[in-house]
Amino acid sequence: MKIPIVRTLSALQKITREWRTANKEISVVPTMGALHAGHLSLVREAKSMSDKVIVTLFVNPTQFNNTKDLKSYPRSEEDDIKKLESFNIDLLYAPENHEIYPEGYATQISVSGVSEGLCGDHRPGHFNAVATVVAKLLIQTSANIALFGEKDYQQLHVIKRMVKDLDIPVRIVGCETIRETDHLAISSRNLLLSDKDRKRAPILAKTLMDAAKRIETGEPQKIVLEDSIKILRSSGFRSIEYLELRAESDLKVLEMVDEPARILASIYLGNVRLIDNVKVRFGNS
Ligand code: AMP
Repeated sequence: MKIPIVRTLSALQKITREWRTANKEISVVPTMGALHAGHLSLVREAKSMSDKVIVTLFVNPTQFNNTKDLKSYPRSEEDDIKKLESFNIDLLYAPENHEIYPEGYATQISVSGVSEGLCGDHRPGHFNAVATVVAKLLIQTSANIALFGEKDYQQLHVIKRMVKDLDIPVRIVGCETIRETDHLAISSRNLLLSDKDRKRAPILAKTLMDAAKRIETGEPQKIVLEDSIKILRSSGFRSIEYLELRAESDLKVLEMVDEPARILASIYLGNVRLIDNVKVRFGNS
């Protein structure tokens, strides 16, 4: 079925106002397009938990650290629309740049704490840009629920913190990472891998999963993480930006695993930056 595509804030608000008057629960799935099974799992989850589903498609220029990366970001709006039609969503909001950043735009949201370290150290300004655009999309759509992937685990924490601190009336739902059958976390960047690198890319997920199991059985995290780095280096990965264990609740550094945790990594294969994270269970978590 054809889905309404809205490109202006005023048209968006006209529709959402009617939904709100009719007491409809609205969820939103913010995306930058080039939709894949990971994004679509969020859409499926959104459909199951609300009356109306909005997907947003906006390639946010401020969150890229260089213009080359922004220019090479995959864009496939027609295909995205076809994929969304099969899910029968209620609205696609694909705003023009000036609907998000009107002339004279001067406001930025900065979330400290959870945005520091990990990706925050390697992508200066990235999380401020993400927090800012997400805040705008949440306010513009007036959604009750917003869904984000655990694939971008630090981003999920930044958004949860921001929503809490600014009293934005929306429930943030984190959804598990969708993987290829060989365990590689699905990402639009996977398409940029050479054939040879695509074959070895799953070693990242497998190494993190094995490390999680070893830590769960009580092996010292320092040794396990060092072993993981060695395995990745010898498998052709380069520039390991980080491979760290952090608390699941607030991303604090853990000297020992005495609460549920995550191992998070960012690493290059060829020129492609891959990120992934896996859960480390503690007790019954
Ligand atoms: P993006 O278009 O890359 O900004 O991603 C939009 C949303 O999809 C974010 O909340 C991501 O965390 C989520 N996402 C991306 N890849 C995956 C995946 N493999 N599994 C689950 N969610 C994902």
